[in-house]
Amino acid sequence: MTAGQVVSGRNVENFPAMLRHLSVVPAGPGVDRGCVTETADAVVVGAGVIGAATALELARAGRRVVVVDRLPGPGQGSTSASSAVVRFNYSTADGIAAAWEAHYHWLNWAGHLEAPDGEGPLARLRQTGIVMLDVPAVPKKRVLEMYDEIGVPYEDWDAATLAARVPGIDTGRYWPPKRLDDDAFWAEPDGQLGAFWNPDGGFVDDAQLAAANLAAAAQRRGVTFRFRSTVVGVRQTGGRVTGVDLADGVALSAPVVVNVAGPWSSGLNRIAGVGDDFTISVRPLRQEVHHIGLPDAPGDLAPSHIDGRAQQWKRLGVVAVAQEIAGGLGLPRDLSKRRLHRPAF
Ligand SMILES: Cc1cc2nc3c(=O)[nH]c(=O)nc-3n(C[C@H](O)[C@H](O)[C@H](O)COP(=O)(O)OP(=O)(O)OC[C@H]3O[C@@H](n4cnc5c(N)ncnc54)[C@H](O)[C@@H]3O)c2cc1C
Repeated sequence: MTAGQVVSGRNVENFPAMLRHLSVVPAGPGVDRGCVTETADAVVVGAGVIGAATALELARAGRRVVVVDRLPGPGQGSTSASSAVVRFNYSTADGIAAAWEAHYHWLNWAGHLEAPDGEGPLARLRQTGIVMLDVPAVPKKRVLEMYDEIGVPYEDWDAATLAARVPGIDTGRYWPPKRLDDDAFWAEPDGQLGAFWNPDGGFVDDAQLAAANLAAAAQRRGVTFRFRSTVVGVRQTGGRVTGVDLADGVALSAPVVVNVAGPWSSGLNRIAGVGDDFTISVRPLRQEVHHIGLPDAPGDLAPSHIDGRAQQWKRLGVVAVAQEIAGGLGLPRDLSKRRLHRPAF
């Protein structure tokens, strides 16, 4: 990518590898309106953990970057409610390799941020290890093959090992998840579960702080952040992106607009008049999450585990259970038309 070049959704080869999965607003129909008050090489829409990381890497690549977010600070969107699990079980080898590489940056967070002495507080990776229970949705065989290929350490546990290593766990197989008001919810298990264990996984103790750390690092590299600023238009001229319009009347000029608006990114694509041909779209949903203390937790760093049977995950002696399955109180609510302060996991 060179300054002045328009990057479209179909032409992202020159983006750094870690940015290729991001949605880059391609050229499309639109109008130029209002006067431009600021120029940059790239406008990044969204100051979540992804936007802040993107801005930092673009600045490291020598780009002048402006980040825009409608919230008052970094990481206050869906990042703020993330359980921030650091795991390696993704569905593609690329995803696993990226997660494995990234965990070294979490381990060396201050170094990754180029943080000056005394900078703080900084987010921390708590390496509790991760136990991923067997569920049909995460085929163990395929994941472990990719771990072998990439070199991710793991242990393959049968039900007896799982019971021994995670005291108190119910290893019964109840798949698929049922609602509480379904009689089948009370049925006995139809088998026993094993799991796989990644000793290097865990969780980051404060996802919002991690985004703030990245934003501070980006600022040190010269990135400008505009908070309480909502993008209401994507400027395009002659089929090329030329910048964005903000709700307060400010216009930002840039040949590249990076859409990292999290669960709202499909909305931004709509504003830009693009995305109709995308096979995946996203929208913000809210789930209530119940946190239940574990009085018999064996210690501060009991293994985190992900239980796909009931959208349950555990870390640091606390179990969080997503409401719609555990409590049967209703499906996640569609928040696409509402302002969201503490959104879903
Ligand atoms: C350590 C860590 C581990 C994680 N592990 C997992 C995992 O194991 N599994 C998993 O699924 N996820 C995981 N996540 C991801 C996490 O759950 C969220 O999906 C992620 O934090 C979302 O970040 P984001 O930057 O994409 O979006 P957000 O944090 O939501 O940021 C988007 C921002 O865009 C802004 N915005 C939107 N529209 C506009 C507009 N028009 N104008 C201006 N601003 C706008 C919003 O205000 C918001 O601040 C993890 C995250 C962390 C930090």
